[in-house]
Amino acid sequence: KVLMSLDRVTKTYIMGEVKVEALKETSLKITEGELLVILGPSGSGKSTLLNILGGMDLASSGQVSFNGSNLSQAGDSGLTQYRRKDVGFVFQFYNLIPDLTARENVELAANLVENPLPVEEVMREVGLEDRMDHFPSQMSGGEQQRVAIARAAVKNPRLLLCDEPTGALDYRTGKLILELLARINRERGSTIIIITHNTPIGAMARRVIKMGSGSIVEITENQSPVSPE
Ligand code: ADP
Ligand code: ADP
Repeated sequence: KVLMSLDRVTKTYIMGEVKVEALKETSLKITEGELLVILGPSGSGKSTLLNILGGMDLASSGQVSFNGSNLSQAGDSGLTQYRRKDVGFVFQFYNLIPDLTARENVELAANLVENPLPVEEVMREVGLEDRMDHFPSQMSGGEQQRVAIARAAVKNPRLLLCDEPTGALDYRTGKLILELLARINRERGSTIIIITHNTPIGAMARRVIKMGSGSIVEITENQSPVSPE
């Protein structure tokens, strides 16, 4: 089943006299339940693609549809609803609220949706049952990223978008974070898209998309995804 489809999507940024085509006539179908990795050098359009998928930005032309409905016609309130309810975001630098505890950061997200998962259950799932009442400044990078994943996952979103989730972490911690995302994908059935410029991470996904200069330059299908070593 197709969860999302992009049909000849272009995104142009205009800065004064300068126009940048960050994404050029890009088409892509995302299957419900898949774990997709997007690779590519800096400036190749990965974040632009993720922002369009997550309803944070609108395409300049082309069609973006989620679950059969057209995001370009959703309007501001429709897009806000979409970002709140259907999408969870995980960022490179966690973006936690510093004066809320881990539990409170996750509760805040849970309160945005009608049927959140139980906060404590999700905290256990990410292995933070002992850190619930810590503030972000009292936690390691890996722990903060696990709070951020819990915050995204507690909404039980159809789509989980991760922009360089291991970019600020050491190798071993990053690997644990990827294992956690892979487990959420397997056990919750969430569709997960991970942006990275770290090629070995591609080994964990069944499908890897490589971006270059605003286009998809290569799609690789992995018969047997493995842990990246
Ligand atoms: P990546 O995530 O692969 O590093 P981006 O999607 O961030 O690539 O950027 C693609 C291109 O679009 C780059 O040339 C970048 O400078 C440009 N770009 C991205 N966001 C903006 C913006 N808000 N305004 C102007 N140009 C932008
Ligand atoms: P388990 O943790 O249940 O033993 P496996 O190691 O057999 O799971 O891997 C099952 C799937 O989980 C793999 O096909 C892969 O997609 C994903 N996976 C496992 N380990 C990692 C990892 N370190 N990073 C990313 N994905 C992983």
